Amino acid sequence: MHFRSSRILGPLFILLASSLVSLANEPYDFVLRKGRIIDGTGNPAIHADLAVKEGRIATIGKVAGHGKQEWDVSGLVVAPGFIDVHTHAEDVEDRPLAENFLHMGVTTLILGNCGTSALNIGGFFKNMEALTFSPNIATLVGHGTIRSRAMRGSSQRPPTEAELEQMKALVHQGMKEGALGLSTGLIYMPGVFAKTEEIIELAKVASADDGIYATHQRSESGEIFNSLNEIITIAREARIRVEISHLKLSGPANWNQADKVLELIESARAEGLDITEDQYPYTASSTGMSQLVPDNIKEGGHARFLERLGNAEAKAKCFEEMKATLNKRKSPDYSYAVIASYKADPSLNGLNIAQASEKTRGGSSIDEQIETVLEIEKKGGASGIFHGMSDADLETFMRHPNTMFASDSGVRRLNADVPHPRGYGTNARVLGTYVREKKVLRLEDAIRRMTSLPATTFHLTDRGQLREHAMADIAVFDPETVADNSTYKDPHHYATGFKYVFVNGVLVIENDKHTGARPGMILRRRTEPR
Ligand SMILES: [Zn+2]
Repeated sequence: MHFRSSRILGPLFILLASSLVSLANEPYDFVLRKGRIIDGTGNPAIHADLAVKEGRIATIGKVAGHGKQEWDVSGLVVAPGFIDVHTHAEDVEDRPLAENFLHMGVTTLILGNCGTSALNIGGFFKNMEALTFSPNIATLVGHGTIRSRAMRGSSQRPPTEAELEQMKALVHQGMKEGALGLSTGLIYMPGVFAKTEEIIELAKVASADDGIYATHQRSESGEIFNSLNEIITIAREARIRVEISHLKLSGPANWNQADKVLELIESARAEGLDITEDQYPYTASSTGMSQLVPDNIKEGGHARFLERLGNAEAKAKCFEEMKATLNKRKSPDYSYAVIASYKADPSLNGLNIAQASEKTRGGSSIDEQIETVLEIEKKGGASGIFHGMSDADLETFMRHPNTMFASDSGVRRLNADVPHPRGYGTNARVLGTYVREKKVLRLEDAIRRMTSLPATTFHLTDRGQLREHAMADIAVFDPETVADNSTYKDPHHYATGFKYVFVNGVLVIENDKHTGARPGMILRRRTEPR
């Protein structure tokens, strides 16, 4: 009897069990078959399938069940979607497809950098959610934004007690609404006027909410060691994690000190401070041409600037200061500065200041070049590209294990102006030029710095790694052909080599084309949707 029943129940049980298994495993939303899976931790690649269900990674390995969609990705790398920790992509509101980012595998953008963010972060997030958009979005609270608000303009003085209290309240408000931390831009107005103590007080507020402090530091040239010491003081006094934004050494006079910079950062880390950094893989920077004009002549707004320029004495002093700055950085003139976007005269876009001076004034003496810089500022300013770093320093910074990659870019408008190529190329350039060609980094390590390292640093849960239950932000690319196609002279080309890019399990790039999908989420601090 016993023998007989098991003969009947045995096959029945097997039938029942196997149908349960297939119910549980099938259907996946999609399965990527036979990919070279690089999980984002820095671990070596494994060859496996990856299945996604309801926006999350369901399993990695030999996947028996089937997906509603299946792709054979043999020969291709399957990596976590890239996280760009330093963007100025507030303009995603105008261009929610964020094509330049998606085309280089970036699935998460951190906004609010260099001291500039939405003032009303909760409102900004709400608007974006109503609009819908392609990449995931997180933000920092911009110190410059809240300082301008609390002090009513760019004031060259410390805040009053009441103003400081208001700034603290604004930081706390932003953090409560989901910001990841506080950012500063200490070369820009009004951040340039903030003393260390002011930043410490505000960083303490961000730190109490488990936020990070990301800083465009006070100097990236002659004063960089004082600047780094200020960062270390802030990290220590406010007990806050710090991200040094776009770490670099600007100006030939300051080159060949990357090792010394990293030594100082390492000594602070040995003391117990969490200091990390990011960079873009280019030897030119980009910011407002206004940076060439001394702060004291601009302080107080445009009307005051024009007033001072009208005063012969003040103007002469301005000329003197600008020449001294050129000398200090060992630049013979302003030919290192190229006009990227100049509304008042777009015909100058793409020309350096010496060329623009030749074109508009018929000469390019230093005095004529300074006149050209001041003229641009008078007419509302321009953005510029500044050729000022060495590739050796760039590679030394890149080899440091805590360096992430970031575009420092907004959402590009195809064919508008002559912007820095980093907004189109950053991640693809690291993978093509610095991994495949120059072999500065191994592929797994480069991907770690674009994925798990930023996710860990900025406390983005469930992102930046390929593992079960993680959100399905995935970049599938060909490591043999991935390329940045954007150059300084001809920037408006998307990166190529990305076969599929998924955001929250939704296909956004297919064969280097944007699908138009807008599955992006707002990533609020600690309250990420589960
Ligand atoms: Zn910056």
